Amino acid sequence: MKNLKKFAAVILSLAFVLGALTACGSGGTIDTTANGEPDTSAAEEVKPLVFGTNAEFAPFEFVSSQGVIGEFDGIDMMIAKKIAEANGMEAQINNMEFDSLLIALQNGQIDAAIAGMTVTDERKEQVNFSIPYYTAAQVMIVKDGSDIAKASDMEGKKIAVVQGYTGETVVKELGYEYEAFKKGTECVLELVNGKCDVVVIDSATAATYVADNEGLSIVEDSEAFGEEQYAIAVAKNNTELLEKINASLEKMLADGTVGEIAVSYIDAQ
Ligand code: GLN
Repeated sequence: MKNLKKFAAVILSLAFVLGALTACGSGGTIDTTANGEPDTSAAEEVKPLVFGTNAEFAPFEFVSSQGVIGEFDGIDMMIAKKIAEANGMEAQINNMEFDSLLIALQNGQIDAAIAGMTVTDERKEQVNFSIPYYTAAQVMIVKDGSDIAKASDMEGKKIAVVQGYTGETVVKELGYEYEAFKKGTECVLELVNGKCDVVVIDSATAATYVADNEGLSIVEDSEAFGEEQYAIAVAKNNTELLEKINASLEKMLADGTVGEIAVSYIDAQ
């Protein structure tokens, strides 16, 4: 948990830097008809802002009976809702596999992807990213008492990762054998059942799993696992939306909104 506070501190300092850079945010507009009368049909005309996500990544996105956008809850969902509101729109969620998000952006099925998505060079070839809003890192989840104390101790161990997550990329780059699963929960189940020795996954999500399951702990190795930045992805040709998202994010980082949202979900764990 101490570590999560550190990540929250990183966001807050990022917010501070951006605060110095940002000039203004976006405001709402009042629609009027040609003769200047308020347009009463405006509410119906407002197009939803469709965010794609993969609601399997608490505390960023998960399904809950009391979600902030329909049944969807989490840090990203709150951010998405606020970005839409700041632009006079309503956020809608399209929940899909993490691996499908970039394609869904490219074919126009979603307007933006918000999914604890790490900015990578490979992904940047396919989509554009907003300014980053969260700093994370890969960590290892092990059973209490494990002899894994650093990344190189994973050699020869049974490693579980989620397919398509940066955790998979990192383990691949280290040159270790691994098994890739569809969901983080499946990886953690393997670990709990003693079918694997270690799960490599993003820090805040790892903390959620450790809080929810007895007998697990987190092992960090900042030399092996560098910092990752989460950002919102949009289609390459949609610079108008990217600018709107960046303006809203800058404002929310500068005034501390993003930091407050992150801390509230992380503290609730
Ligand atoms: N940050 C990781 C990635 O971008 C995992 C994201 C996620 O599962 N939602 O691959």
